[in-house]
Amino acid sequence: MPIEKTPEENAILFVWFNHYAGVLIKTPSKTLIIDPVDIRARSFPDADAVLITHEHYDHLDPRLIAEIQKATKCTIIADPASTQRLKHAIPPEKLQQIRPSEEIKVGEVSVKAEKCNHPAAEPVTYIITSEDGVKIFHTADSLPYPELAEIGEKEKFDVVFCTVGIAPGTSPDTGFEIARLTKPQVAVPYHTNSTDYQQQFAQMIKQELPRTACLIPELNKIYQVTKRK
Ligand SMILES: [Zn+2]
Repeated sequence: MPIEKTPEENAILFVWFNHYAGVLIKTPSKTLIIDPVDIRARSFPDADAVLITHEHYDHLDPRLIAEIQKATKCTIIADPASTQRLKHAIPPEKLQQIRPSEEIKVGEVSVKAEKCNHPAAEPVTYIITSEDGVKIFHTADSLPYPELAEIGEKEKFDVVFCTVGIAPGTSPDTGFEIARLTKPQVAVPYHTNSTDYQQQFAQMIKQELPRTACLIPELNKIYQVTKRK
């Protein structure tokens, strides 16, 4: 990181950069950073937007966000509790609060918030749709919840990030349940420092979801995902 290359048409690039929900997504036109912590601001010289899911320490670092914003002039999109915490550090015209079912455009890229089943103030998950229609679901620290099935059916996700550890109540099983409900083309186990947990998740996908591929990411490595046919 930063990613020098640009994704091919109908594709996105992503990098998982910490043991939590830290993900960089690059579409052909925009670079989005989600929940940056435990990383230097200079890793993101071309950020167009930073997205924050909730106010917990492993997702929100106001000082780091202010530093990224100052260097790049990017937009910050955040849940209400994080917006409160960022108010004094970010120029008001660059800070946008979001709640479930609201949508904010970053150029031609759509960022839509959905519900997040996690014990924080008003946490959100993010559906990101690239300018050529690649669909990414960043589920933050969420545990499964029934509406995910409907969301998955409607959106037809290319990539879903599934929490498999660290957060309260989460495990490879709850991560798998998110994949089972949303049925993406590619499921990515994250929010863990256990490769065992990621392997357990991969096993369940292989046995029970033959049409979903599991991608176990390595930290700071670039992956490309192409829109499903
Ligand atoms: Zn977390």
